[in-house]
Amino acid sequence: MSDAALTLALSKGRIFDETLPLLRAAGMEITEDPDKSRKLILNTSRDDVRVVLVRASDVPTYVQYGGADLGVTGLDTLIEHGSQGLYQPLDLKIARCRMSVAVRSDFDYAAMVKQGARLKVATKYTTIARDFFASKGVHVDMVKLYGSMELAPLTGLADAIVDLVSTGNTLKANHLVEVERIMDISSRLVVNQASLKMKQAQIRPIIDAFAKALADKRGMERYGFALPMDEAAAKVLIDFGGRQWLVWNAHFKRERIGDVPT
Ligand code: AMP
Repeated sequence: MSDAALTLALSKGRIFDETLPLLRAAGMEITEDPDKSRKLILNTSRDDVRVVLVRASDVPTYVQYGGADLGVTGLDTLIEHGSQGLYQPLDLKIARCRMSVAVRSDFDYAAMVKQGARLKVATKYTTIARDFFASKGVHVDMVKLYGSMELAPLTGLADAIVDLVSTGNTLKANHLVEVERIMDISSRLVVNQASLKMKQAQIRPIIDAFAKALADKRGMERYGFALPMDEAAAKVLIDFGGRQWLVWNAHFKRERIGDVPT
């Protein structure tokens, strides 16, 4: 690897999977499967680019302090971390979800807020939650948790949680209901500001290729939306714009089912 090697920080899971098509658009493939080895540094098809696998919440830290030149991180993580030293050129529109307030289905959240009651809120996202309730003028006692937030209202630890919601299935399975939508969340490309200056020639084309891929939705227009995504047991394709598409193999007999836009 050359001295001017670029390091990209990714976290395993949705962000990793949904970043792959963008890397491909920028002319790069990750040549190793992270699920088949315990390696934390992965090679790519470009000699001058490598990928480091870090915890999602550590991506901004790696990029801020130069452990990585670039990274992909959720807006939630970015807000909680703070964006000091990080250049954020692109909303990649991947790993989309929302940050919401949820309560037990038998908890009258609206009445409590109206009465000016003090709420106990459990969350991993204390900055987002504190800012949100402050903007509403609601007094809260914050309980910091690191996972399984849905348990907090069920065990009496808190009245409400602030957490990421995608399909809503996790809330539903735990008899919780979403009562406020705080913000839409998606992943951002973050770049170390010093790297951007020192490695312009390598970084700029990557940003440009990502931006071009995001703007290019050609080829996806012909697919129709047939089932709600949260009820479908089929493969999901994510296009470069971050939209989800249902992909299935259907063997229609002779009957005409309906019109598919072409
Ligand atoms: P769902 O059941 O689809 O609403 O997903 C909710 C669960 O997945 C919660 O535990 C969330 O913390 C987590 N989750 C949903 N979307 C994301 C995301 N984009 N990034 C990280 N965690 C997520």
